[in-house]
Amino acid sequence: MMAVHGATLCLDTHVDIPWPNTPDPHSRTSRQVDYPKMRAGGLNAVVFIAYTQQGKRDEAGHAAAGAKAEAMLRAIAATAGRDGTRLVTNADELEAAFAAKELAVMLGVENGYAMGHDLSRLKLWRDLGACYVTVTHDGHNDLADAARFKPDLGDAPTCHGGLSELGRQAVREMNRVGLMVDASHTSKSSMMQAAELSRAPIVVTHTCCKTLCDHPRNIDDEQMDMLRQVGGLMQITAVPAFVRAPEAPGQRSQATVKDIADHVDYAVNRIGLDHVGLSSDFDGGGGVEGWKDASETANLSLELLRRGYSARELGLLWSGNFMRLMRITQRLAD
Ligand SMILES: [Zn+2]
Repeated sequence: MMAVHGATLCLDTHVDIPWPNTPDPHSRTSRQVDYPKMRAGGLNAVVFIAYTQQGKRDEAGHAAAGAKAEAMLRAIAATAGRDGTRLVTNADELEAAFAAKELAVMLGVENGYAMGHDLSRLKLWRDLGACYVTVTHDGHNDLADAARFKPDLGDAPTCHGGLSELGRQAVREMNRVGLMVDASHTSKSSMMQAAELSRAPIVVTHTCCKTLCDHPRNIDDEQMDMLRQVGGLMQITAVPAFVRAPEAPGQRSQATVKDIADHVDYAVNRIGLDHVGLSSDFDGGGGVEGWKDASETANLSLELLRRGYSARELGLLWSGNFMRLMRITQRLAD
């Protein structure tokens, strides 16, 4: 089974980075994902995230978030391109990197807040190599309502009732420039509206099944059915609180790789294997017993193989489905 894992293109679609003091991923670091840990665990590719926390929705807040996201994209990209690593911006390049036995570094932007009201930022991010944009983080922004609102920022439970007009324009622009639309962190209404509006199927890059674990960041059966309907994808993630409710309120969740596999099984049974994938949210809250960092990635493959998933199915879960969405997104872009 280790041989099957080794032959599988394993892509983790959501990994944060420490910022602004980012340890060099070419060396052994305290990060959950660095290049030595990826090699040790047979993790071939990672989408590293330029993340901005939700702040005030004013000109200064938008400008600061925009500058930060751009700086992070440039900094992550600068770590690739040497010593067996390369920056990858589409599915063909990802497969080529894997064939060449090089680690693939991919880019994503988390929180459309960093766009402010300037749609041209989306093209800039795509040109810098980003493959997706997460429409919101926690807290509503000017694009859409989030699943978790922030009273300290003046949020009411709902703001736009889903996507705003600017949010709809942003989804259309992401389609046009070839960025995947990520509905992680958004409210259910935002997610459902984005799924219907987007010409390319949407992705939820780090989430789990609400039916198995009732957490506001997880998606329910109706949302999962919508993903199947539009050809989209949910990437089951390793955030303990999303995976398994704590034994008692206030306690820490004791989630393991088996719990993650339970979410995969549930999602595959409900919406089909073509609509399910994997991510960790490492260095952003992810990490369970058995998959604490990238060096332990094989454990998740082994658990899935033990449950009867074939080598082909394992490949679809780890990267094949996500590459399909990347290709559709590129084909539909102008
Ligand atoms: Zn996130």
